[in-house]
Amino acid sequence: MSKLKIFLYLLLLFLIPLLVVPFLKRTKTEFEDELRNRPAISVDNTRDTTQFFAIAVHGGAGMGSPSNIPDSVQVAYRTAMYQVLEHGRLMLMKGDSAHHVAVAVVALLEDNPLFNAGKGAILTNDGRASLDASIMTGWDKNAGAVAGVERVKNPIKAALAVLQKSPYLFLSSSGADAFAKSVGLEMVPNSYFITEKAKQRLKQAQEQEKSGTVGCVVRDKYGNLTAATSTGGMNNKRFGRIGDSPIIGAGTWADNQTCAISCTGWGEYFIRNVVAFNVHALMLYARRPLSIAAYEVIHNQVAPMGGYGALIAVSRNGDIVVEGNATTIIYGFIDKFGTLRVALSK
Ligand code: ASP
Repeated sequence: MSKLKIFLYLLLLFLIPLLVVPFLKRTKTEFEDELRNRPAISVDNTRDTTQFFAIAVHGGAGMGSPSNIPDSVQVAYRTAMYQVLEHGRLMLMKGDSAHHVAVAVVALLEDNPLFNAGKGAILTNDGRASLDASIMTGWDKNAGAVAGVERVKNPIKAALAVLQKSPYLFLSSSGADAFAKSVGLEMVPNSYFITEKAKQRLKQAQEQEKSGTVGCVVRDKYGNLTAATSTGGMNNKRFGRIGDSPIIGAGTWADNQTCAISCTGWGEYFIRNVVAFNVHALMLYARRPLSIAAYEVIHNQVAPMGGYGALIAVSRNGDIVVEGNATTIIYGFIDKFGTLRVALSK
């Protein structure tokens, strides 16, 4: 090849980019226009692209044997668990976020007189319904809680309103009811919550009859976690008593780094052992898997002190754990593979 030809080839190689680039390059205004028209990017950077979800619910834990529960009541518990899980599954499939699902599921359980939450809740020693609830969202570690409410129909909705619509985290008693009313939540007279069964329970003041608190933990398909818990507390509780359910860290916890947890059982022991937070802390600081962390806190901390209860949890990876030392644990879940299970003991 002659020197001239080589020179011409090289020249062409240099010239091509010089001729083409101006056509490819967008003007500054075009680029600015594109930036302006670009849809807003979600600031929630915890969202991942995984498409699986997982959900677990509980309907309380107690020290009676499940075999002592009449068959018809067992069926009613199972049916209620199935129904709320399917409700949650539909919402999650549609793409609803974890906190919407958890609140919807817990509100359904509050409306069901079978459970010790909302309508049908256990009564105080002066014969009133005094309800506690809390919710925590794992992507921002924000939380809302109410304790001792007597008039808001769905305490879990009041807890969510505290989280979303107030600068506070925890409101109690008539102040919490007044807040719930001010944000437009449905209010009912205290008698709405009181069922014949609850009155009988109070009359008998059976120490063993304490189960029925409800809770829900969710991992939505964006990777976000939420935990929600709602209860009437312990049977024959002294008015003014507050248990673990509305206490963030004791009965409820969620952190996208680890897991979401909802507890049930003898609240005083769950508060003393900061159960939900400690499971999270074992995962975060000691790198324990969820199942080991839950086992450690329930069986090596709560149980030796004389406490009893259970927890449901979902990890950031969508693994579900049910752990407890109570003889009856009413629970159900849909795991990340879509398998549904409902049971009355572990
Ligand atoms: N933990 C609830 C409380 O102590 C009661 C329960 O879960 O059954 O108020």
